[in-house]
Amino acid sequence: MLSRILVMPSDTLANLYDLTRPALGALLAGWGFSAYHRDQLWTALYRRHATSFDELEGLKPELVRALRERARLSHLGVHHESFSSDGFTHKLLLRLDDGQTIETVLMRFKGRATVCISTQAGCAMGCVFCATGQMGLSRHLTPGEIVGQVLHVNRVLRDANESLRNVVLMGMGEPLHNYEHTMAAIDVLVDAMGLAMGPRFITLSTVGVVPGIRRLADEERPIHLAVSLHGATDAERAALVPVGRRWPLDELMDACRYYSEKRGRRIFFEWTLIAGRNDTAEHAHTLGQLLRGMDAHVNVIPLNPTVGYDGGPSRPESVRAFQDVLTSYAVPSTVRQRRGIDIDAGCGQLKADVERRARRSLPTSA
Ligand code: SAH
Ligand code: SF4
Repeated sequence: MLSRILVMPSDTLANLYDLTRPALGALLAGWGFSAYHRDQLWTALYRRHATSFDELEGLKPELVRALRERARLSHLGVHHESFSSDGFTHKLLLRLDDGQTIETVLMRFKGRATVCISTQAGCAMGCVFCATGQMGLSRHLTPGEIVGQVLHVNRVLRDANESLRNVVLMGMGEPLHNYEHTMAAIDVLVDAMGLAMGPRFITLSTVGVVPGIRRLADEERPIHLAVSLHGATDAERAALVPVGRRWPLDELMDACRYYSEKRGRRIFFEWTLIAGRNDTAEHAHTLGQLLRGMDAHVNVIPLNPTVGYDGGPSRPESVRAFQDVLTSYAVPSTVRQRRGIDIDAGCGQLKADVERRARRSLPTSA
């Protein structure tokens, strides 16, 4: 397993947003409070949207006092934000307690807003075309920092009388490299007494961390799984996704089949289309042969160019031809445009742009 880098913010008071309901119960039990008090506090935080200990009316005063002394509610600050010209995409660079920044993207389609959230500050996986991969890993996010992104956009949406439907873990970082914190955050999001998000409206995207996929298959979380492939032979994949050397395709596809069988679920495969590198008919045939017969759906995403990579997006006719070949193998596919391309909405791009401009003391592109 990759070395674990876990840097918690230095504050030693427990951040309540880091805790699942059972973990909150254990903390409060240690202070002498019951499961009833835990559930009252939980509903205040996630149903009544209390944002400070001043807003906990109706809770036992002794509990509120104990919380003030021994706990905190940590909120993410807005470091920078921008809106796409079509108004649908709202990109946020949120600030964590230790000054790190992470990207969160809110996409607002009528009645079905989707948020794309980060699970790490940076990423250790080094995919060559990805702005986050080009930064390297700073640290894992805590569960509260993952949940905090959803709470932040929930507030934005509530002010506009809208609500959040989908959460995609496709922002900065590799969720299965930060397994426990990511799963704790998902458990908070789906908790029926709180935000009560439907697990089927949550999609986790992984670069293909095989042990994590197997572990997810063995656990009871009916979320959607997306696996980023980008190459259908080991050599071609490793040229784009270096961890392809660590978990070769035969091991990865075995883990995907195990997941499909165990969970009875379709897997989404992501394929960033890069002109001339992985977008020819031959590449599509190799992918079709790899996925033929599986319960699979391919999302093809034309590359969002990044400063650190010299590749460009595929032409629309290459995208169509690629899809036609997949169809001949009965493998369904959809083209996904990364929305808000005019505001660097590709993973990690806004952060890279803001940092570059800060170094040169220029205004940001928003
Ligand atoms: N680490 C996870 C989730 C975050 S990346 C993963 O790799 O799956 C989410 C998706 O965005 C991945 O499929 C990734 O390959 C894709 N992506 C990253 N940078 C991109 C870019 N510049 N253009 C198009 N897709 C990109
Ligand atoms: Fe990390 Fe995903 Fe970017 Fe690869 S594509 S570097 S795994 S965030």
